[in-house]
Amino acid sequence: MRNYLIEDLPQYFEDYKKSIKNPKKFWDKVADQNFVWYQRWSKVVKYDMNEAKITWFKNAKLNITKNCIDRHLAIRGDKTAIIWEPNDPKEEAQHISYNELYTRVNKTANVLRDMGIEKGDRVCIYLPMIPELAVTMLACAKLGAVHSVIFAGFSASAVSSRVNDCEAKMVITSDGSYRGSKVLDLKSIVDEALEKTPTVEKVLVVKRTHNEIKMKEGRDYWLADLYEKASPDFVTVIMDSEDPLFILYTSGSTGKPKGMLHTCAGYMVYTAYTFKNVFNYKENDIYWCTADIGWITGHSYILYGPLLNGATTVIFEGVPTYPEPDRFWEVIEKHKITQFYTAPTAIRSLAKESTEWVDKHDLSSLKVIGSVGEPINDEAWHWFNDHVGKKKCPIVDTWWQTETGGIMISPLPFVTPTKPTYATLPLPGIQPVLMDDKRNEITGNQVTGNLCIRFPWPGIARTIWRDHQRYKETYFTAFPGKYFTGDGALRDEVGYYRITGRVDDVIIVSGHNLGTAPIEDSINQHPAVAESAIVGYPHDIKGNALYGYVTLKETGESRDKDNLKKEINQLIADQIGPIAKLDKIQFVSGLPKTRSGKIMRRILRKIAEGDFSNFGDISTLLNPEIVEEIKNERI
Ligand code: ATP
Ligand code: MG
Repeated sequence: MRNYLIEDLPQYFEDYKKSIKNPKKFWDKVADQNFVWYQRWSKVVKYDMNEAKITWFKNAKLNITKNCIDRHLAIRGDKTAIIWEPNDPKEEAQHISYNELYTRVNKTANVLRDMGIEKGDRVCIYLPMIPELAVTMLACAKLGAVHSVIFAGFSASAVSSRVNDCEAKMVITSDGSYRGSKVLDLKSIVDEALEKTPTVEKVLVVKRTHNEIKMKEGRDYWLADLYEKASPDFVTVIMDSEDPLFILYTSGSTGKPKGMLHTCAGYMVYTAYTFKNVFNYKENDIYWCTADIGWITGHSYILYGPLLNGATTVIFEGVPTYPEPDRFWEVIEKHKITQFYTAPTAIRSLAKESTEWVDKHDLSSLKVIGSVGEPINDEAWHWFNDHVGKKKCPIVDTWWQTETGGIMISPLPFVTPTKPTYATLPLPGIQPVLMDDKRNEITGNQVTGNLCIRFPWPGIARTIWRDHQRYKETYFTAFPGKYFTGDGALRDEVGYYRITGRVDDVIIVSGHNLGTAPIEDSINQHPAVAESAIVGYPHDIKGNALYGYVTLKETGESRDKDNLKKEINQLIADQIGPIAKLDKIQFVSGLPKTRSGKIMRRILRKIAEGDFSNFGDISTLLNPEIVEEIKNERI
C-alpha cells in the first residue's frame, strides 16, 4: 500500500469523509494504485442490500497470490515473508523468504493439480500452525481452488460436517500436531471424519510429528513425496474478481457455524488496506498475530493482509503457556516483534500469572499492540497497556467479524487517541449506524443501539456457502437496507464506538437494556476476579434477573465468598447502577469457550434458566467438561 497510510488525525477525517461521500472513487483509487491486475474492473461496486447481492470490481481479473508473492520478488525476494516459530522453543525457527515462498507455493500448486484439483474445487485444510498451512492455502489460491481451513483441534464430527457442507474434494492434514506438551493425532480424527464424506477423493498428509498413522491406499498420500517431484514452475490461474477465494466457518458462539464465502478482489483490497493502516506497518517491521489461521483473524492478518503488503509475518505453532507462561514475551524478544496482535482471552489468562514473567523480557521492539475477538475489558486493557506496551504502544482494539473480512472499527495507531474498552472510530469506507428495535436510526451521541453498517465495503462476505437465503435472513432482513452485525454498541460523546456485546445477549431488567460487556467489565475490576460472564434468567418481578459466573485468580489463599459477592455487587452498583446488580453469583473454575476463545454465553444462559435439555451445537467448544461442573454447582 503506497499512498494510503493515514498519518494523523486530520488526514483520517479527510480520508474518512472522502470515502463516505464517494466510496466508488475512494476504493477505485486504492485498488488501482496498490495491486497488480490482469484486467481492470468495469464497475467499482454494485449492490442490492435487500437481496444481499454485492459485487466489487466487476469483471476485474487477478490472482491474489500475484499480489501476495510474485510482485514482491523483484524488490524484496530475499526478505523474510514468514517466520515460523515452532511449539518447542528448542526447535529452530524457520525464515522463509519471498523467493522461497514463491517456489514452495508453485510446487504445491502442481501437486494439487496432479491430484486432480481444478479451479473452483473445494479443499479442506486441517493442519496445525506450520508453514505448510500457509503454503497450501496460497497454492489453492494460485490454482483457483477454494480453501476451507478447519481449526486443527476440532472433532471428527465437526470436520465431517464442514467437509460435507462445502463438498470438498480433498483434505490436507498432518500425521499429528504439537500443542504445548500434547501431541494430537490429527490423522485419525480425519480418518474418522472421512467415513461419512462421500465427496473426498484424496488426502494429502504432511509429516510433522512422525506419529504412527494409517495411510489408506489410493486415497492418502504423503505431501513431501509428491512435492519432491513437483515442478517449480506454475502458470497462475486467472481469477475473476467475484470468484470464490475461500469458505470459512464462523466461530459458532451463537449457534451453528456459518460457511462464509469470501471472493478474490474485494477481500484482497480490503485486507491489504486495513492491515497497513491498523498496524501502521512499515517495511522493516516484524509483525506477529497469535490467532490460529483456522479463524478469520489468521486468514486476514497472518496470511493475506501482511503478505499483500510485503510484510514479515510470524506463524506460531505453540500455546501461550508452554513451556512456561512467558512464551509470548520470549517470542517477542527473540524475533524483535514490532506489532503484536492477540485476543482478550489470552491477555486475561496471562494476566493471571505473576508479572515477573513478562517483566523479565525485553519488549522494547514493540510499537503497536492489538486485540480482537471479544470486547476487551478495562482490567485487561490496562494490564496489556502497562505490562506489554509499557504505556508507549497504542492498543488497537479491533472490532470485526468473519463476515466482514477485515477490521471495521479500530483506532489507528499514532492517529486515533485510544480509550480503554472502545474500538473507537470506523475505518474509511465503513459507515456504522445504530438502530433501535423499531428500526429507526438513532442519531446523535451518547446513545446505544443495534450496530448496523450502511454501505457495503469491499471485504464483506458475499454469501453463506450454498445458503444465500440464510445469509439474507441473518444479516439483511432485521434492518432493511443495512447489514446487521448482531452486536450492540454505544456511541460516546465524541462519536467513539464501544461494542457492548451481542444483541442476543442483551438482558432487559425492569425495562432497562443491559449489555453484557459493561457489567462484566465492572466485575473484572475486582482484584480477585480473573474472568466473568453474565446472563439473564426469568424473574417474576423484574422480567429478567442477572446471573453471574465468575472465575477467580489463583493465589492459593481461601476467600470469603459471601464477602466477595457483596464487593462485586458494590462495584457494579458504583459503576453502572444498582439495577445491574447480580441476583446470583456462581464461582466456577472456568467458563465455556469456543476454540477461538470466546465465552459461549448461550450455554450459561440455559444453565441459569435451569434448562439442561438442549445446549445446541457445542462442537466448537474448547472445554466441554466445564459444562458439567457448572451445571452441578448451579445456584
Ligand atoms: P457465530 O457468528 O458463529 O456465533 P462468532 O460471532 O463468535 O460466531 P466470529 O466471526 O469469529 O464468530 O466473531 C465475531 C464477533 O466477535 C463479533 O460479532 C463480536 O461479537 C466479537 N468481537 C470481535 N472483535 C471484537 C472487539 N474488538 N470488541 C468486541 N467484540 C468483538
Ligand atoms: Mg458472529
